[in-house]
Amino acid sequence: MSEKPFRILPRVTPENEHFWHGGAEGELRFLRCDSCRTWIHPPSPVCPGCESFDLSPEAVSGRAELVTYTENHHPWIPGFSPPYLVAIVEFPEQRGLRLTTNLVDCDVDSVRIGMPVRVTFEEADDGIYLPLFRPEEA
Ligand code: ZN
Repeated sequence: MSEKPFRILPRVTPENEHFWHGGAEGELRFLRCDSCRTWIHPPSPVCPGCESFDLSPEAVSGRAELVTYTENHHPWIPGFSPPYLVAIVEFPEQRGLRLTTNLVDCDVDSVRIGMPVRVTFEEADDGIYLPLFRPEEA
């Protein structure tokens, strides 16, 4: 891979640090309810399924399905060069458990909705690992 693109980084808080730091161990982590086992993303202090406050970070497999994407050609962010793909992926662990991300390491013409993708982490500053997705190898 070439040089890493410039990215605007998230603000890490106690509520989301499991998500941004999980990549250090190669894990994509979401909050999960200890009571009803619902996965929760984005992070919330309370389970939307049963209103429990007992939530713990847990890793998903990292496999997902491409729900939709856009191919961007406008240089919205200086240093983040187009074209790039903004994608929404859904995890097999739970219907509706989705993440907005970038699709990387792929030929734009080969991208199709419903294709299997897998997480890959881009290490940024301050111990932040950005979860990006690439096509699953056949
Ligand atoms: Zn719950």
